[in-house]
Amino acid sequence: MQIINSIRAFLKPDPKGPWDVVARLFREGWRKYLPGYAIASFFMVFVAGTTALTAWIIGDVVDQVFIDRSVTQLIILATAVVVISSIRGISMYGSTVALARTGNAVVADMQKRVYDHVLNLGIAYFDKTHSSMLITAVSNRAGSASAVLSTVLTSLVRDLLSVVGLVTVMIIKSPWLSVVVIVIGPLALFGVGRLVHRIRSVARSEFAGMQQIIASMQETAIGIRVVKAFNLESAMRTRMTSSIESVRRRGNKISQIKARTSPLMETLGGFAVAGVILWAGYATIYEGQKPGAFMSFITAILLAYEPAKRLANTRVGLERNVVGVRFVYDILDTPATMDTNPDGPDLEITAGEIRFDDVNFGYRKKKLVLRDFKFQAEGGKVTALVGPSGGGKSTIMNLIERFYDIRSGTITIDGQDISKVRIASLHDQIALVSQHTTIFRGTIRENIRFGRPSATDEEVETAAKNAMAHDFIMATPDGFETELEEGSGLLSGGQLQRLAIARAMLRDAPIILLDEATSSLDSESEHQIQVAFERLMAGRTTIVIAHRLSTVLGASKICVVEDGKITESGRHAELLAAGKRYARLYQLQFQDHPTDDDDEEGEPKVASVG
Ligand code: ADP
Repeated sequence: MQIINSIRAFLKPDPKGPWDVVARLFREGWRKYLPGYAIASFFMVFVAGTTALTAWIIGDVVDQVFIDRSVTQLIILATAVVVISSIRGISMYGSTVALARTGNAVVADMQKRVYDHVLNLGIAYFDKTHSSMLITAVSNRAGSASAVLSTVLTSLVRDLLSVVGLVTVMIIKSPWLSVVVIVIGPLALFGVGRLVHRIRSVARSEFAGMQQIIASMQETAIGIRVVKAFNLESAMRTRMTSSIESVRRRGNKISQIKARTSPLMETLGGFAVAGVILWAGYATIYEGQKPGAFMSFITAILLAYEPAKRLANTRVGLERNVVGVRFVYDILDTPATMDTNPDGPDLEITAGEIRFDDVNFGYRKKKLVLRDFKFQAEGGKVTALVGPSGGGKSTIMNLIERFYDIRSGTITIDGQDISKVRIASLHDQIALVSQHTTIFRGTIRENIRFGRPSATDEEVETAAKNAMAHDFIMATPDGFETELEEGSGLLSGGQLQRLAIARAMLRDAPIILLDEATSSLDSESEHQIQVAFERLMAGRTTIVIAHRLSTVLGASKICVVEDGKITESGRHAELLAAGKRYARLYQLQFQDHPTDDDDEEGEPKVASVG
């Protein structure tokens, strides 16, 4: 009964078992990978066939060469052995290569699919997902897909056919002995079902540990300054060590569980072979039977041992990889909740006026960040947002970009609801300059060109000149061809900002969203950035989160954003005269700010201009 249960557990389509994942892998890829797997299977059939033939031919060798002493048979059989071995060798090669190629194609496709899907997910998904999870998904977990497919194929085609072939040899050569072996054989499955469950939970925590290792490494690399400045080395080391150790322990555990099937199979195999030898020896010695059939039989048992063991281990081996594939499927199944209106109308800009009407929005379910929010930015003018941190200024920017969908109300640009237009056309009309310039791997030229990938070299250079970036770019080792890398530290904060402005200039969009850096710069950079900003904003609708006095002075309208509301708005002088919130903020934030206060004529504190 126990055995039957074990066999049933082994084959049962347990909803959490590997078969749903395996079925999905085949369902999604069978059309594309069928040729590859068909070629691999074709060769595997030959591998299995030649394995069985080897066992078969041993009997003939013993009977016809050693007992009958036939020279003709000797030559024929020797030639046959050479032919069989060659076919087997070539088939092994063919199946291994075909399997590996198809497996690599599966992994590559999986990686592309995950990346495509992740690109389409809304910002909200990234808010709640650690990047290490996405990294592990495209690195080691995508590899699990090919491991699952090749395990299944190798087991079901090569190993199963080999076992079937060898059992056939056994039955033909000695039906009675076969009955005994075939009864003992399934005993081996006993216990395997129980291992499956354990390995699944261990595999899951092994993957989780791997992700922690990547996360720790990533955090350390990104935050190395903080780590060093706060003497966090030993704390970080402890975290890392514990993740590494946990992965090591899980790895050991998995190997141990997998290996546990060996003693079982080994012992049973020994019993089977010993029994056959006793029987065969008896029949040969006392009843004068030719030993060939028994030799074939024993060879078949010995050859069947490995594939049978692998077959018994299939589930156990699958579990580990299925955990990885399931994880990737979880990402692929995350719905892209935002409707990007791929077939919607394009946003047409006339004046560039942006309006928020009774907008309600919150990042999390419970808390509203903007409540019945009303806001208007006049076309072609500069609107400055000021206010305490956490008031909602960045949120306004996020919503204009439609990084998140609002709960109610409307956001329109020139009367067109931004949730109704094709989202790519919305982004085409907006240039975003954030506080932190994102550097992508590549040259300075390529980095600026991200503003508009179709721009010519001249356009890139003109944009750099207008953004006051040309001089410092030419001073780098290879000018525009200097390679940049995230965190390379080659460029200063002010230079990075001007690079971002150059990108925005190149984009030449009618709407500019600008988040000024809070960190103060040296006065030369300050001045150059101010010039660059002024050129960028000229004639465009600009919404700027202002941290610099010159910006608020130049704005056509200043909005004070506090606690998700606009509490005051107007021009600098009016608001200052009103003596309310803005006046207080002004005292706190701008008055002592080391910017070129009275720089309207472009002079005083600035030492030199490029
Ligand atoms: P400001 O730019 O004025 O400093 P924000 O717009 O960044 O203010 O933040 C407004 C509120 O929204 C804050 O309470 C902040 O905690 C919250 N918030 C901002 N971004 C997120 C986010 N990605 N997920 C959850 N809450 C957020």
